[in-house]
Parts: sequence; C-alpha cells; structure tokens
Amino acid sequence: MDENYQSLIEFISTSSGISVDEIERKVAAKQAKLAGLISKAGAAQIIAAELNISFDKQSIKISQVVPGMRKINLIGKIINLFPVREYNKNGRSGRIGSFVLADETSNVRVVMWDENHIDLIVKGDIVQNCIVEITNATLRNGEIHLTSFSEIKPSNKTINNIVVQKPLLKKQIINFNTNDNVSTRAFIVQMFEPRFFYICPACKKKATEAGDCNEHGKIIPEKRALLNFVIDDGTNSIRTVVFSEQLEKIMNKEELETPELFSIKKQDFLGKEVIITGQVKKNSMYNTDEFIVSKLEDVELDKLIEELEK
Ligand SMILES: [Zn+2]
Repeated sequence: MDENYQSLIEFISTSSGISVDEIERKVAAKQAKLAGLISKAGAAQIIAAELNISFDKQSIKISQVVPGMRKINLIGKIINLFPVREYNKNGRSGRIGSFVLADETSNVRVVMWDENHIDLIVKGDIVQNCIVEITNATLRNGEIHLTSFSEIKPSNKTINNIVVQKPLLKKQIINFNTNDNVSTRAFIVQMFEPRFFYICPACKKKATEAGDCNEHGKIIPEKRALLNFVIDDGTNSIRTVVFSEQLEKIMNKEELETPELFSIKKQDFLGKEVIITGQVKKNSMYNTDEFIVSKLEDVELDKLIEELEK
C-alpha cells in the first residue's frame, strides 16, 4: 500500500512537474478537507484528477496541455511530418525536426531538437501517419518541444476519431494562449494606419516594391495591405492584425489608400463590438502575442440571444 502510494505520488509529480513535497501537501490538505474519510492514496487520485492526469494511459490528451506544464506525456498520430531542416543562428547550428501530432481531442505542433530523435525521422522509423508515444516533453509558445531529456518512440496503440482541424475555442482574451485558434467577442479600441508591402506572385513571399524576389529574381510585385488594431473585452486587450483578404471584406482599396477616407472608416470601427476569430501568434520582434484575424463579424444581437437561449 505504502509503496503504491509512493509510486502514485511520484507518477503525479513526473506527469505534472510539481514536486513530490508539494503533492504530499496537497494530499494532506485534501484529506483534512474531507475530514479523514479517504486514504492518502484516494486523496492522491483526486489530486491527479484535478491536475488532469489520467492513469490508464499514463499520458494526457492534447487538449489538456496547458501553459506551465512540464514533463508532458502524449500519445498521438503524426498527421503532418515536415522535412528536417538545418539551422545556423547566433553561432549555433543543428537540425530541427517537426510534425503535427493529433489525438481524439486536438492537435499540436511538435518540435524536435535532439539529433537522436531526428535520426528516427531520417531513418524512417518515424513516418507520416504513425502513432508515437512522447514522454517528458515541455510546452513552449503553444508547441510541444522534445529535448535530449525527452523520449519519442513508435507505438502500436490505435487512436480513433483523430482531430485534424485545430479546434476553435471560445475564450476571453485573458485566457488566450500562443497558437490557440480562438473566437472572442470584444471592442475595437484602437486602430493604426494601414501598412503596405509587396509580395512575389509566384512564392507569395515578401518582395521589394521595385520587383525583386529572393527566390525568383525580377518579378512584377503584388501590393498588399495590413491593418493593426487593438481589441479589448474587459479582461485584457491584444494587438490584432488583419491581412489583405480579410481586410478587403471590411475596407476597400480606396479607403485604405486615401487617408481622409480611412479616417472616416476608422471612426466607424472605434468602439464597435465584434466577434473576432483567428489565431494567437507570437510576434518574435516584440516577444508578445498578437491576434491574426481570419474572420471579423458584427455582433448580431439576434444571433447572441439565440445562442444564449440554447
Ligand atoms: Zn518568389
């Protein structure tokens, strides 16, 4: 019994990254709260459940991964395996392997830094559509990272009903996490001047106004616009960016390119309540999250009432 309890506590600690001492304190507190009606092992199971640790598979589901979690164990299917890339940055060089891992709850990008892990891809031990078991991984900016302390191996388990699309979550801004695919209801509280840039029609990457693409040489560049604004829902605010295709739906070319027309349009938007959908992305230049808009809708009271009545 005592040995069971000990291994249970250790398992909870490994799975959650919380120290054994801290878990024992939680167990004691739980027992006290329930007036000593449950055993230490029973209390430990409740703590584990509260921490979303499942014992049957000894791993958690992708949707349960939250910021701050360390030593993450997952089982999932590789639904998109990317080619191994080489990097050479700030005097460090090496290889990076990555793929999208999916289970029956969600999917997540996994990044591998360890040469031995990357060799599994190169040798073909880990391939597209195979099921893998990952242990001791960490979460960074909404991605699962495997270091040399982590393990990855093919698994013969089967997973049904794989979630291929990133689930759309309804969240308040305060709860946004990097790489979340979210929808929220908020007010537009600030809007900046539109910015213009040029892309290559062939590769869609940034080009110069004069028509030079790094990859394709001389090209006829396409002009694109982006618009930054700030949304606020009372819990927090976030800088938001809307790109060309989405932007065209809310503002035409003339309004974007004529300052007088833009400022009229801007007055329409300021203080407006919208339902906004998109992805939370890390802006590497400012090291803050920003919200990349994929859909912007007016708040329609009829729809809201309908939703509330459900
Ligand atoms: Zn190009």
